[in-house]
Amino acid sequence: MAVTMCPGQNTAFWRPGDIFEIICPACGAKVEFFKDDARRKCPGCGHLFSNPKLNEGCAKWCRFADKCLGLNPEVRKD
Ligand SMILES: [Zn+2]
Repeated sequence: MAVTMCPGQNTAFWRPGDIFEIICPACGAKVEFFKDDARRKCPGCGHLFSNPKLNEGCAKWCRFADKCLGLNPEVRKD
């Protein structure tokens, strides 16, 4: 038996989509992310950037979040 890992760490139990490619914001290269990676270094340029899917929502960091979430006061009429 060579299996000594926790099943949660075993990529054999991961579903499609748990590993995905993010475009490096610095150079445009594809960087492979695992779902539990907090951040990854681009192999092309060495740029270190965070996993956008790890956050609860993009609103924490995206400067366009107000538009994305429909919170723009110009479109919301209470
Ligand atoms: Zn890069």
